[in-house]
Amino acid sequence: MNGFFETKIEFLKGVGSKRAKLLNEELGIFTFKDLILHFPFRYEDRTHFHKVSEINDTSSYLQLKGIISYKEEIGIQKKKRLVAYFKDETGQMELVWFKGIKWISEKIKTGVPYLIYGKPTLFNGSYNISHPEIDLLTPQNENGYGSFVPIYRSTEKLKKTYLDSKAIGKFQQNLYALAQNKIEESLPSYLIERYKFLDRKSCLKNIHFPKNEELLKKATLRLKFEELFYIQLRLVREKKVIRKKHKGIVMHDSSLVSEFYKNFLPFDLTDSQKLVIKEIYGDMRSGSQMNRLLQGDVGSGKTITAFICMLIALSCDTQAAIMAPTEILASQHYVGLKEYADKMNLQIGLVTGSTKKSERRKILEALKIGTLNIIVGTHALLEPDIGFKKLGLAVIDEQHRFGVAQRARLWQKNDDVYPHVLVMTATPIPRTLAMTLYGDLEISTITELPKGRKSIQTNHLRDSGRLKLFGFMRHQIETGRQVYIVYPLIEESANYDYKDLMDGYESISRAFSKTPISIVHGKMKPKDKDFEMARFIRNETKILVATTVIEVGVNVPNATVMVIENAERFGLSQLHQLRGRVGRGADQSYCILMTGNKLSTEARERIKTMVETNDGFRIAETDLKIRGPGDLSGTQQSGVLDLHIADLALDGKILKEARDCAEKILDKDPSLGLVENKILNEVLTSMNKSKTDWSLIS
Ligand code: ADP
Ligand code: MG
Repeated sequence: MNGFFETKIEFLKGVGSKRAKLLNEELGIFTFKDLILHFPFRYEDRTHFHKVSEINDTSSYLQLKGIISYKEEIGIQKKKRLVAYFKDETGQMELVWFKGIKWISEKIKTGVPYLIYGKPTLFNGSYNISHPEIDLLTPQNENGYGSFVPIYRSTEKLKKTYLDSKAIGKFQQNLYALAQNKIEESLPSYLIERYKFLDRKSCLKNIHFPKNEELLKKATLRLKFEELFYIQLRLVREKKVIRKKHKGIVMHDSSLVSEFYKNFLPFDLTDSQKLVIKEIYGDMRSGSQMNRLLQGDVGSGKTITAFICMLIALSCDTQAAIMAPTEILASQHYVGLKEYADKMNLQIGLVTGSTKKSERRKILEALKIGTLNIIVGTHALLEPDIGFKKLGLAVIDEQHRFGVAQRARLWQKNDDVYPHVLVMTATPIPRTLAMTLYGDLEISTITELPKGRKSIQTNHLRDSGRLKLFGFMRHQIETGRQVYIVYPLIEESANYDYKDLMDGYESISRAFSKTPISIVHGKMKPKDKDFEMARFIRNETKILVATTVIEVGVNVPNATVMVIENAERFGLSQLHQLRGRVGRGADQSYCILMTGNKLSTEARERIKTMVETNDGFRIAETDLKIRGPGDLSGTQQSGVLDLHIADLALDGKILKEARDCAEKILDKDPSLGLVENKILNEVLTSMNKSKTDWSLIS
């Protein structure tokens, strides 16, 4: 867009500096461009009028015509309200205001016709509408506002100062009147022709002031496509640039893999694991740096898959690193990988924030001279004093916790060539989200669980079912199994969370007085945590009471019961991740979700989903639908999800088309140098300018 659209919003008719400040703060609207891209989030049909006598219990928002016969202020101070008596030819009702009384009272006149809009509620036996929308009846609105009245997102604070949807709509009109001849096309003509899109100007007009349903649909489709298309074009281009620019170590030798297969592989790999390893090996031989995302459901066997890929790197005289988001997970990886590594006579080390200085020095030295083959660690691996002889493969096990910039710091540990990078996600993420969040990476997915896994049975119990729960736990423990009991921890520092946990621990200790029990939580010293965890892993303790610190990666196949307390307080992916801690052995496993009696609609939906399915990908899709991408962990700082109109939960098809389209264009014209693609380059450049803002954040 051009200079006009960069004009500060305060210069728009009707805005001014005070309101501009509010629009900045509340909606992030700073410029004309921001405003015109603040699209309605829904539309209302405002063609129909109701009569007062028609109002009943089922009435939702409705529109009425009539006059105000009388108004009065009732009550004092905080209880003060303004009541206006509104009537049409069929009856009378009250309109009520609790806020802005003075302003409204001055504004409304008695005896003249008004158009009002709002939702009636029953109070003391009669219907009233509180805080209705109210306008003088004019020739423009006497037939209503039309079938597609745009509704704009506003906030409580804005509404208090009358910057409601309607006011924003008015600004949009003022802006469009100025802007209409300045709107430039932003897609190449061949795409507009191919998809029979509306031109940009018609799109912006019809998204704000739709003429009819068909034009609204067309405008919406193009704007969604365009939004997703440019994100994909940028990501695919980045991916291709990296592929071309970042030479990778060519890894042709996989002799250690063969040796491991022949002598030590503890089980047959699933077809899916094999396929993924093949894809990864393909990348590692290609001569370009690998940048790949490895996805798979909880328990699908990502760890051994990653280990085998490490063996490829090791076969080619390079080293491998694996970085995990928490100390517990890093230690768990270390223990798991060490078992394999020892058999193969490979050297493996662990570095975290709590590694002792002397130990750390030894490890760093071995890493530098190359006698250490594999290093496992947390963020500590990123510290500048950590250097490799030659790093061949960096595996990043993340819950979207490492930013792009941090990943890059690992790459820079080699001076000449880039190490291959494999990013693993702890839980599945929906395809649309993966394509957007990790759009610069290739994606491999493990689509099946190892054979013979029994699917975990999930039940929902209310607090009243606690005795039943204890009986069940007792039975499982008697047959030799172990039990997890997890408490939510919303904030590491919030003491009331610990109170829940400690109360729970006490009542469990009383109910199971002869059973050895471990407790693990974030306020314990890492050493004590590890000690308790280790006791549980060795089957010395039968019950592990814990906060979510055990969420990721922990692997105790003999544990068959996962009890989640206050399950309504967890998000879906977290519940799924926790459930994945059981069902790792040959025995039937159970997940029991404990909740209070009152549940919000969303919480009920989450619990229901968990009870119904074990499929992590389905759960992730549902999560996306319930919460929207902005709330999914780690996506907040990613910026790429700051979508104006597209919805990753709903627009998967459009996204796929946009991605394919971007791929094809860049295959044909990698630098976007062709005349027909000039416009693409310009839009991308202007996007990159604003991109710097958010890359600083992540
Ligand atoms: P996740 O993908 O959640 O990280 P893990 O790598 O921890 O899963 O694997 C879960 C469990 O399944 C481990 O005990 C692992 O040894 C086992 N496992 C992995 N692959 C297979 C397989 N192909 N057959 C049988 N068991 C497997
Ligand atoms: Mg894992």
